[in-house]
Amino acid sequence: MLQSLVLFAAAGAVFDLAFLFGGEFVITSPRPWAETTAWTVNLRAPRINLFVTGSPLTEAITGRIFTEDIREPDRNFFYAQTTTPTSDEPRLSTMEVDDADPLAWISRFYEQSEQRPARCFRLPDEHFVLIAAQPDCDLAWLESLDEDAVAAIPTTEETKLLETRKFRFHCGCNLERILPILGGWKNRLDELFHDAAEITIQCPRCAASYRVTRHQLETTDSP
Ligand SMILES: [Zn+2]
Repeated sequence: MLQSLVLFAAAGAVFDLAFLFGGEFVITSPRPWAETTAWTVNLRAPRINLFVTGSPLTEAITGRIFTEDIREPDRNFFYAQTTTPTSDEPRLSTMEVDDADPLAWISRFYEQSEQRPARCFRLPDEHFVLIAAQPDCDLAWLESLDEDAVAAIPTTEETKLLETRKFRFHCGCNLERILPILGGWKNRLDELFHDAAEITIQCPRCAASYRVTRHQLETTDSP
């Protein structure tokens, strides 16, 4: 379930399926291709941090759940960061959330950051649907939708598939990419290793474990 949550959150950030109204009914994927989205959620109870990121450019999404050594926040927060090759600065958005329902977070994120309504639905077999309003959207129709109505859309509405994007759960990390993260410890290896010949570190993006020897760090160039 947790992995599907991560998959869903990243896919929701990347896909942005939207229904356009004005006589014709269209399903579109308007999010730009050259866009990388990263979401972080800090929750008080359960005290966990969720991290997901994805991009159509790599056709990959990844993420992890932090359950240890987490500072308890005074409130629940949802952070979104969007980066594009054409902008030096990422677009940042922070939102307070008052529940533990990712579907509700995404709806509120659209309301606040995208400034258009959107609704998320959980259908059977781990299928999720995000419907985001375009200009002239029939808001009463959007508001009236429930899971059954959404599941029936392919037969009750005239739809047109504009684009399909494929994603896989894949981080792309390897030891060569992980080692530079420890570059700051290069002059303090005794503190890091104590008497151990090797230590285990985790990828900050996907939590994959890597065993690192002291010798490897000694011979790695700092970033
Ligand atoms: Zn990784």
